[in-house]
Amino acid sequence: MTDQLESFRSETRAWLEANCPETMRSPMAGEEDFVWGGRTFKFKHPDQKLWLDRMAAKGWTAPMWPKAYGGDGLSNAENAVLAQEMKRIHARPPLFSFGLWMLGPVLLEYASEEQKLEHLPKIVRGEIRWCQGYSEPGAGSDLASLQTKCEDQGDHWLINGQKIWTSYANEADWCFCLVRTDTSVKHEGISFVLIDMQTPGVETRPIKLISGSSPFCETFFTDVKIPKDAMVGRLNGGWEIAKRLLQYERTNISGFGSVGGVSGDLIEIAKANIGLENGVLADGDLRARIAAHKMAERAYALTTQRAMEEAKAGQNVSHMASMFKVAGATLNIERCELMLEAAGSRGFGWSGEGFSPEELAVTRGWLRSKGNSIEGGTTEVNLNVVAKRVLGLRDTQ
Ligand SMILES: Cc1cc2nc3c(=O)[nH]c(=O)nc-3n(C[C@H](O)[C@H](O)[C@H](O)COP(=O)(O)OP(=O)(O)OC[C@H]3O[C@@H](n4cnc5c(N)ncnc54)[C@H](O)[C@@H]3O)c2cc1C
Repeated sequence: MTDQLESFRSETRAWLEANCPETMRSPMAGEEDFVWGGRTFKFKHPDQKLWLDRMAAKGWTAPMWPKAYGGDGLSNAENAVLAQEMKRIHARPPLFSFGLWMLGPVLLEYASEEQKLEHLPKIVRGEIRWCQGYSEPGAGSDLASLQTKCEDQGDHWLINGQKIWTSYANEADWCFCLVRTDTSVKHEGISFVLIDMQTPGVETRPIKLISGSSPFCETFFTDVKIPKDAMVGRLNGGWEIAKRLLQYERTNISGFGSVGGVSGDLIEIAKANIGLENGVLADGDLRARIAAHKMAERAYALTTQRAMEEAKAGQNVSHMASMFKVAGATLNIERCELMLEAAGSRGFGWSGEGFSPEELAVTRGWLRSKGNSIEGGTTEVNLNVVAKRVLGLRDTQ
């Protein structure tokens, strides 16, 4: 096994050296460095497209998905080697995608063969960009209160309602969406559908934020007709799929190293900006806090590794997604705070040539990290899940 892995490592290293363009071997500094794919996506640099196409052809935008759907069928161990080898040369992820992180895994589990063959390869190749139609004005933490109506019209479904906080809905091609198909029950009246954003009656309105950007939208569905085969899983069976998708979302958000694109080395940043005294960081207080954070990061990495091993051994670790989401988001927020502090005045940059891409990434990553404790279910709500499902504590109300 070890020999096999080692030969996989050397092949992977050689392939990456030959195929990852030099320009794709540096940290991402701003939004335009993130490749989200989709029909209308504008690549900032031709190498982004080249890198995406090469990785997709190799099956390495979704390395663990089966080859039949565009992945490479890698094992956990091979996938870890690929990640290590990419990190070694500072290779950027070729694609950021809700399709890869959230929708794809649930399609693999719940979709029909036709739905898998239709949607998964397009996700792998970055051809279709997906958005997530979950939250509504009256349904955030209490997601199952959602009211967007989906009615059976014989030969099609008819959808009416509103979503909110739909990240990048105005740039997405398709939306995976939770809808109400039975108003007489709560959780058991929800279904999971796939909606082409080009369908007449779909409208998105970007929500402008104080930073000037508009990453979120309000999304309106007015008499939107979608085909009968656009439903994933069974009628009124959407809540189970919704929860499973949230587990993937939470696990992904908890991969704190990747959130916000801040991939710089905290210790190196601190050394460069604070300086050393007698071989150690000159600021004793910051030194102690960085050391404590690094230990927590290491413990977290070991815990996620343990969960992965347990999953491989067939144990059910699904309840851990909420724990990892809380811990990962908290650590990421703390790491971004420390990086900003360590960067000193170099961490104040927002744009312009006076700051390096790495420095700009620190500032933007810090701002982005603020949403980590809210997106994919808030920290409070996930703590409730941990209390009930992991610790078995009862409601006191
Ligand atoms: C960066 C980002 C991206 C997002 N992207 C999307 C997206 O693409 N698609 C999508 O559908 N949604 C998206 N959301 C929305 C997100 O899922 C919701 O904001 C989140 O679920 C919380 O819902 P809410 O905003 O309605 O807050 P509320 O549910 O109103 O909560 C308000 C406050 O009350 C607390 N609270 C609520 N209920 C409880 C309880 N039972 N116990 C203790 N405290 C409680 C919450 O923790 C929170 O602090 C995104 C949010 C962020 C920040």
